[in-house]
Amino acid sequence: TPVMAIESSCDDTACAIVRADGEILAETTLSQSGHVPFGGVVPEIAARAHLAALPGLVRDTLARAGLRPRDLGAIAASCGPGLIGGLIVGADMGKGMAIALDRPFIAVNHIEAHALSPRLPGVAGNGAPFPYLLLLVSGGHCQCIAVEGVGHYRRLGGTIDDAAGEAFDKVAKMLGLGWPGGPAVERLALEGDPHAIALPRPLMGRAGCDFSFSGLKTAVAQKLPAEVRTALPRPLAADIAAGFQQAVSDIVIDRLGHALDMMERPTTLVVAGGVAANGVLRARLRAFAHEHNLPFAAPPLRLCTDNAVMVAWAAIETMRARRAAGLPIPDDIALRPRPRWPLAEIAQRMTATGT
Ligand code: ATP
Ligand code: FE
Repeated sequence: TPVMAIESSCDDTACAIVRADGEILAETTLSQSGHVPFGGVVPEIAARAHLAALPGLVRDTLARAGLRPRDLGAIAASCGPGLIGGLIVGADMGKGMAIALDRPFIAVNHIEAHALSPRLPGVAGNGAPFPYLLLLVSGGHCQCIAVEGVGHYRRLGGTIDDAAGEAFDKVAKMLGLGWPGGPAVERLALEGDPHAIALPRPLMGRAGCDFSFSGLKTAVAQKLPAEVRTALPRPLAADIAAGFQQAVSDIVIDRLGHALDMMERPTTLVVAGGVAANGVLRARLRAFAHEHNLPFAAPPLRLCTDNAVMVAWAAIETMRARRAAGLPIPDDIALRPRPRWPLAEIAQRMTATGT
């Protein structure tokens, strides 16, 4: 029976209906535009926009799937980590539906949803058997995760300051480009020389696979003296964009090399998150995987960035794994959304008491 899922943890309002075999019956994603004038996501605006959009989005998604509410077998929603206002809006909508329809409500961890997304049928060639290595690089996250099984995620390392996408956005701002900055930096970098400007690669070569981008961001700022900022020559901006992108890619590849040593040999290298859209980074990841004899999987962009399909799929995998372990389907109606929800706390879902 189909599962409906809601995603509202950041600035995308999304709803999807996915069948237990992974067939996507309908999916809708609305990217909020109200944040553009502020150059970043404003939590209060995000929560209100989710509230305004969700009821209509849920109706639309049902209509597109050709289903009535009572055809749904379960309702899921991202319940953290993320911006608490949006999480509450999405979770309450899902809980309300679950109560009205008398179906289980499943609280999904947003990072777990990203982590399991390559297992959606048709996404990765071999279905990404466990264990696999996930690089999650988005506006809010930058981490390496060993995905060892449903509910079993080991965070190998992550950023100690900015997320990769956040660094792209901040550099874009310094270069006078719009928000979100990643695509603009990538476009401008095409005109630049990635080796023209020397930029640092923080933590590169260090043990472990943590990331740091704030030093790189500061270095970029130092290449832009005040008198230049007002009228930045395009060739200089392009060289900086190219150099920055190159530095980020170098850092990511170095960190992944360490991550490989920190886990049992993975079956696949998977990348998810909005920064995975970056062509230069993608090419480097592909080459890295090839070098290490690993299949490389990058979900299509709409499933890489925030979406509700991955949330539905994580709920389906959780229900299936619990059923296989002889455990009841969880009902998370009393679970409160959490701005922080460490992956390490998810293993308990695979035990008798559930969440
Ligand atoms: P979360 O972190 O909660 O998953 P988010 O909305 O911050 O959600 P995504 O939607 O996954 O993150 O990705 C958005 C980020 O990806 C932005 O920081 C954006 O600049 C970056 N990004 C998008 N396209 C590119 C690109 N081509 N190159 C580099 N970065 C990019
Ligand atoms: Fe996300």
